[in-house]
Amino acid sequence: MNLEINDFQKKLKQDITGIFTGKILGQLKELSELNTERLKVFLKDCSKKLGKTGYLDTGLNSDEAGIKDFPDETTSTIAGEELACISPSLFLSIETGSKILGWLISSFGSKKDKSDFLNQIKKGEIIGAIALTEDCSPFMESDLSTEGVASKDGFIVNGKKKMVINAPIADIIAVIGSVKGKTAVFMLDHGQKGLKVGVRIKTLGFNGVPMADIDLDNCFVSKERVIIFENNRLESLIKIKENHALSIASLGVMKRAFAEAKASANIAEEGRKPAMAFQEIRFKLAEMFTLCQTSLLMLFHESWLLESSDVEAASLNACTKVFISEAAEEVSSKAIQVMSKQGFVSGSIAEECYRDAKFGQIAGQTSEMLRMKIADDCLAKY
Ligand SMILES: Cc1cc2nc3c(=O)[nH]c(=O)nc-3n(C[C@H](O)[C@H](O)[C@H](O)COP(=O)(O)OP(=O)(O)OC[C@H]3O[C@@H](n4cnc5c(N)ncnc54)[C@H](O)[C@@H]3O)c2cc1C
Repeated sequence: MNLEINDFQKKLKQDITGIFTGKILGQLKELSELNTERLKVFLKDCSKKLGKTGYLDTGLNSDEAGIKDFPDETTSTIAGEELACISPSLFLSIETGSKILGWLISSFGSKKDKSDFLNQIKKGEIIGAIALTEDCSPFMESDLSTEGVASKDGFIVNGKKKMVINAPIADIIAVIGSVKGKTAVFMLDHGQKGLKVGVRIKTLGFNGVPMADIDLDNCFVSKERVIIFENNRLESLIKIKENHALSIASLGVMKRAFAEAKASANIAEEGRKPAMAFQEIRFKLAEMFTLCQTSLLMLFHESWLLESSDVEAASLNACTKVFISEAAEEVSSKAIQVMSKQGFVSGSIAEECYRDAKFGQIAGQTSEMLRMKIADDCLAKY
């Protein structure tokens, strides 16, 4: 595995950090307080700025280079991790919206999809969403009840999707369903007839990420905006993509919590020693740092395996998400313990991280589903 960060990747990291200074950094901290309209304007602005750095081009396929499952995943992850440490919420909105949508279209989209959307996605001019989960369907393709039925020049689609990130603000929603038993992706436009986006859902954490259920009631989608798959690979590729994004977001949460606890432990209240003076606090910070570093290594190892199409990539994707999402909860909990009353106060970064940390274990494939997968993979191999 090559752990060296090349000059392009270094510059990309610096350019991303360079965007989020001064006023825009202040606005990021208030993301969870913005109403949906203001959130859309702000996220689009951030997305366009990120587009200029080249970040939204990473992880995409190009017809000239030949289509791969996870092209350029290392660069995409290195840059994504930088963004997730600045704002896990912004990272998640951009990743599930622009990046995964861009990857989907660049890998499988029709010529029309590519010419209509890809350039705009790379420039950050389009916010997208991926709608997969349904009630009673832990992502099993055969269980998806969203279905398109052929009509003149297209398909009439009906179905319901749960908790779709970006749904309240998305220009395009890629809905995963089926056509005659085959997996299909339907590209829907914001505000189109038959597409009902529910009210924004209030959540425990990641409050800066807009989410809603969606309802498709006889939605017409023209045939150029539908991708139909001959096999069920799309389901497993999207699961891997989402799990990977959630691992990066969880690492961002964990590193924020650690940085906050470390800074706080060095500050002494009047007439008292700083918390760092206590051996027990130093041990705690050492354990937190070890979890951050181990998570980072696992994430880069996984990215490298994905990019190399290694046979172990899917198993490591599962191990990485379970490890990092659970480590994020542990590190955030320890951060509150180190900061004590200051960490427990509503609105502190440690408190926000503690609430955010639970998300990684639930969204995408849950820790329980992934442990089953890891066990199945182990039993199949050894
Ligand atoms: C904040 C948030 C954002 C989300 N964003 C999106 C999005 O943008 N797009 C999207 O499509 N979906 C999204 N989801 C949905 C998410 O992917 C699902 O919550 C997840 O797949 C779990 O499904 P479920 O909630 O229906 O749990 P259930 O399937 O009802 O599971 C209930 C419990 O049973 C366990 N369980 C279920 N199946 C198994 C199994 N096979 N083996 C072992 N244990 C099992 C689970 O681990 C869990 O503990 C989001 C969810 C959250 C919380």
